[in-house]
Amino acid sequence: MRVDVLTLFPSMFEGPLGTSILGRAQDEGLLEIYLWNIRDFAKDKHRIVDDTPYGGGAGMVLKPDVVVAGISHVKSVNPGPVIYLTPQGALFKQNQAKELVALNSFSLVCGHYEGLDERVRKGYIDAEISIGDYVLTGGELPAMVVIDTVARLIPGVLGQAESYETDSFYSGLLEHPHYTRPFNFEGEVVPEVLLSGHHEKIRHWRRKESLRRTVIRRPDLLEGRSLTLQEQKILQEINKEISVKGGS
Ligand code: SAM
Repeated sequence: MRVDVLTLFPSMFEGPLGTSILGRAQDEGLLEIYLWNIRDFAKDKHRIVDDTPYGGGAGMVLKPDVVVAGISHVKSVNPGPVIYLTPQGALFKQNQAKELVALNSFSLVCGHYEGLDERVRKGYIDAEISIGDYVLTGGELPAMVVIDTVARLIPGVLGQAESYETDSFYSGLLEHPHYTRPFNFEGEVVPEVLLSGHHEKIRHWRRKESLRRTVIRRPDLLEGRSLTLQEQKILQEINKEISVKGGS
């Protein structure tokens, strides 16, 4: 997968993207990330990238001519859509990560200060993504969030010991709880079924705990979801348990 990023601060990406699973994915050629400094597309001798907003007021706006020069360059090397990170975009969800990994290439534009001139958004941006209902100083952290989320879905990026299919959100539910040694930690012991070696029982327990977590913490995820007969049965069991002793 190829991702091109337009940013004023390319050095911010080095640590997070060069480490661990993402670093390995790049070493193995599964992920290519190209960082382009927006300032390099400024033509004046001071390489100015921003200007005051029309109408006055606080903050600076990224100059449209400079950003469009950057986008045009990125489009010439990456055939995928150009996505602007902005708190005004559609909320980024796992399903969109699945769509992006299927595309195999896309570009990200990181704003700063007050962000992009509206004419750039209208004429040169294919999609807008927000990573949450809060405002960060720049689009660099959101871009890294998107790249990380999408990259771990590239076939071969996660090792055998890791898997994304059972992760939270992948199939619309929160994931079940995890335990490792020691068996007894501060008086709390591991659920008996996980020691049984009975794969079907373990699978059923995990499904049930995944549903329980989702019902209790994120019931919104179940709205509009059609449940299998087995899931409906498990839900009934959980609801009975919750009404008797309360959930966790
Ligand atoms: N004035 C803008 C507004 O109120 O919508 C916010 C600008 S913000 C200070 C600067 C840049 O950070 C934005 O252009 C965007 O690229 C990025 N940014 C901030 N919060 C974000 C979020 N929640 N999701 C995605 N990008 C974000």
